[in-house]
Amino acid sequence: MSTELPFLAPSEAKKRKIAVMTSGGDAPGMNGAVRAVVRMAIAKGCDAFCIHEGYDGLVKGGDMIKKTEWDDVRGYLAEGGTLIGTARCAAFRERWGRLKAAKNLIEKGIDALIVCGGDGSLTGADLFRKEWPSLLAELVEKKELTAEQTEGHGNLNIVGLVGSIDNDMCSTDATIGCYSSLHRICDSVDCIADTAQSHQRAFVVEVMGRHCGWLALMSAISTGADFLFIPEVPPARDWKKGMCNIITEHRKMGKRTTIVIVAEGAQDLDLKKISPEDVRKLLAEELGLDTRVTTLGHVQRGGQPCAYDRMLSTLQGADAVNAVLEATPETPSPVISIIENKIVRNPLVQAVQLTQQVADTIARKEFDKALHLRDSEFAEYFKSYLITSSVDQPDLKLPEDKRMRVGIIHVGAPAGGMNAATRAAVSYCVGRGHTPVALYNGFSGLIRHHGDKPLGAVRELTWLDCVQWTSRGGSEIGTNRTLPSDNMDTVAYCMEHYKIDALLIVGGFEAFTALSELRQARATHPQLKIPMVILPATVSNNVPGTEYSLGSDTCLNALIEFCDTCRQSASSSRRRVFVIETQGGESGYVATIAGLSMGAMAVYTPEEGINIKMLDRDIDSLRAVFAKDKGQSRAGKIILRNEKASDTYTTEVIANIIRAEAKGRFEARVGIPGHFQQGKQPSPMDRIRGVRFGVKSLQHLETFFGKTPDEIAADPMSTAVIGIRGARLKFSPMETIERTETDWKHRRPKDEFWLGFKDLVDTLSGRRPPSEVHMHVPVLMPE
Ligand code: ADP
Repeated sequence: MSTELPFLAPSEAKKRKIAVMTSGGDAPGMNGAVRAVVRMAIAKGCDAFCIHEGYDGLVKGGDMIKKTEWDDVRGYLAEGGTLIGTARCAAFRERWGRLKAAKNLIEKGIDALIVCGGDGSLTGADLFRKEWPSLLAELVEKKELTAEQTEGHGNLNIVGLVGSIDNDMCSTDATIGCYSSLHRICDSVDCIADTAQSHQRAFVVEVMGRHCGWLALMSAISTGADFLFIPEVPPARDWKKGMCNIITEHRKMGKRTTIVIVAEGAQDLDLKKISPEDVRKLLAEELGLDTRVTTLGHVQRGGQPCAYDRMLSTLQGADAVNAVLEATPETPSPVISIIENKIVRNPLVQAVQLTQQVADTIARKEFDKALHLRDSEFAEYFKSYLITSSVDQPDLKLPEDKRMRVGIIHVGAPAGGMNAATRAAVSYCVGRGHTPVALYNGFSGLIRHHGDKPLGAVRELTWLDCVQWTSRGGSEIGTNRTLPSDNMDTVAYCMEHYKIDALLIVGGFEAFTALSELRQARATHPQLKIPMVILPATVSNNVPGTEYSLGSDTCLNALIEFCDTCRQSASSSRRRVFVIETQGGESGYVATIAGLSMGAMAVYTPEEGINIKMLDRDIDSLRAVFAKDKGQSRAGKIILRNEKASDTYTTEVIANIIRAEAKGRFEARVGIPGHFQQGKQPSPMDRIRGVRFGVKSLQHLETFFGKTPDEIAADPMSTAVIGIRGARLKFSPMETIERTETDWKHRRPKDEFWLGFKDLVDTLSGRRPPSEVHMHVPVLMPE
């Protein structure tokens, strides 16, 4: 409990009443936000209310503003759309509407409102906050409320959560819903690409985004589209010729498909709309391609939220409640954002103003400014797309004497996004004039094929070789766990023999170990004095130096699909607990984040271990949950156990104990998704981050060009790990990471950023007693 704030015992205090609503266009993940707000508010001793049907419900009041209990939001995380409804409301744009809204809130004792919506909804919310004192005064004056009723409610706390599939809000990297929508688009374009491939067709795909090209850009990157139209960056004046040249070039090289992505708001430099039909005509008439148009429409809005949206909405919803409880009358209303991997609070008014500026800036044809007003990643992603999408870009080419031979190797288990990263690296190399060289089948491939055997495991890659790799799972150039120390002499020899000037290693903890070995072997093998980067890719997300490894998002999505399916099977039968075993090695990341994203009842990690007291307590809470359950929601419960959480309490043993203790009142089943967790196709996030990391890694390797081997070896950044750390993407020197940040014994970072999330899983599942939650923030306001 905070010492700064006066504390009164619950019986003496008036509970804080916090309301949540969804507004504007619906977006997958909104339900997760509602669930997190409701449960976090209750866990912190407040009353939670849901306002149904957006501002319409707020203006109408009555039953539309409902006190919401813990169990009311059960199962919300997995549901698409918004279960509490949303509506456009003209009345709220008028003062009389907001006057009614204020009255309705005061009558229920609510003075904190968490709004999940787009910039329109948040603009409305801030206006409401500004007017609040005058609205109350008017209501008292008109005798619609008494002065006593308004006492203690002089300020309205507003907290914004951005729910929008377009990802059109400035100040945040991602809005709740945008990645789910991107999943829908990528699934569709992947299907379209298959038929295009069969018939050698061209497809023009229209995706949503009237003012914001995020969905179009990211889907173009994720699917390796040939050309892209977005509102922020109109194509050059002679775009028709430019596009036809690029597509002709790709076809000449042997590409059988053509995909062009067009955002709804696509336009030319004179702000004249570019329609999918314009593009189709051009491709059909100028290039003679059999061209079809597909408009994806509302499928982009719907469906179950992806893992990221479930996690994001949960973290942000929980933080919104904290923001309400921590607010003082002076605190500006915040909007909860995410920058790279960090949840942050930004001033709501500024975020909305910046967002609205983008549209104005585009209207003034200041396109460059518009691009940079978007989140920090946007311009960078756009550049990466340009670099990797087209084969012939004379402006990018380096002079002959500055070109390198870049080795690319995969190490460890396959992970989603490995191929996307490799394709991006290859495309970048081709664009710059470097030679990309695949070292097939990891270090064992190198070692095995040396000597009197054919040197077939090393081959130069062409742009066409990997043109379709972005959407492919597994590892196209082969991967395994062999380390270079198996035969360092041969590895070093091969680097020299194949004239490798720089090395990109893609993989997980083994890849990290491999780079560490290569770095240390430089003392005895001067051929290894070349710049090297590890690009982390592992479902376990346990590579030191980064908070995100490619493949971990794909894994979470696969795991969630598995668990949702298990859970559903319980709804038609008996009360059931599934004990699901997750991968992750000695890191509980996958189990914890999956637990957060699916609302698991408990998560067992290697970091914490498992003991009998824990099991006892969890079985007690299962008994309590199933005793209360009146059959209205008989969906199963999930317990996630990381594969290495305990030697004694195996997944099977835990299920057996639960079964024995349940005494027939509920069932326990085991689920082991195993390699299913590697996912079939990489998720869009793993694809786009693969491309970004791939391009960045190559740019880093280029910085060493022209240096002598000794100069390279003397520079700590010549062996580096690329990663996301908090709110930044950065390279870190291997030597430091190895020495100070690596828990070698447990094969994970010493300091795992997500450890604190476990408390949140426990809080939101009800596993953590409210008394413990109360200790962390002031929960009760004085009367
Ligand atoms: P989004 O939140 O997705 O941008 P809208 O712009 O349609 O969607 O806004 C949703 C609702 O928010 C509107 O129907 C209206 O009730 C309210 N709203 C939007 N802009 C304002 C405003 N300037 N003042 C008051 N209310 C607004």
